[in-house]
Amino acid sequence: MWVACLQLCFECGTHNPQWVSVTYGIWICLECSGKHRSLGVHISFVRSITMDKWKDLELEKMKVGGNRKAKDFLSTQDDWDEDQSLQERYNTRAAALYRDKIKTLAEGKSWSIETSPARNYVPHTTQAKLGTSTSYPNFRQMKQSGGMTTVASYSNDTTSMEAACGMSRFVLISYSR
Ligand SMILES: [Zn+2]
Repeated sequence: MWVACLQLCFECGTHNPQWVSVTYGIWICLECSGKHRSLGVHISFVRSITMDKWKDLELEKMKVGGNRKAKDFLSTQDDWDEDQSLQERYNTRAAALYRDKIKTLAEGKSWSIETSPARNYVPHTTQAKLGTSTSYPNFRQMKQSGGMTTVASYSNDTTSMEAACGMSRFVLISYSR
């Protein structure tokens, strides 16, 4: 049984988002997942909670992430402006720093702005390149090798996914075929 995580879309506030941008550890709704996908997989790697298989590192990114943490970090960055378009916002130094932070923390390392390779990030200004990505691996769920993990939620369990979900409704199910 799939139960929606008690969350709001990071972008638009829609209830019970069923998608995530693993890159930032944020929960997003179906509509916003399409927008994120159009950014290109190098900017935002989108996964479905219910339909995709998850790698361990992707799960780690959700554990160290979460909408609240993303908002807390990004809102303190000078070049993060909620009024900008999605494309503009995720092509900022702020977003690059947070991408690096999530990746680094998910690998179990410590992170700081001072040592982040993204601290000198220069935003891409060529909008033409956006939205033309054809390399997004829509069919990665076909890779069902052993040890892959899927994410499910049950109403009564509290697990490590709680940090990402924020409302203690998530449990991780590992299985191998
Ligand atoms: Zn949304």
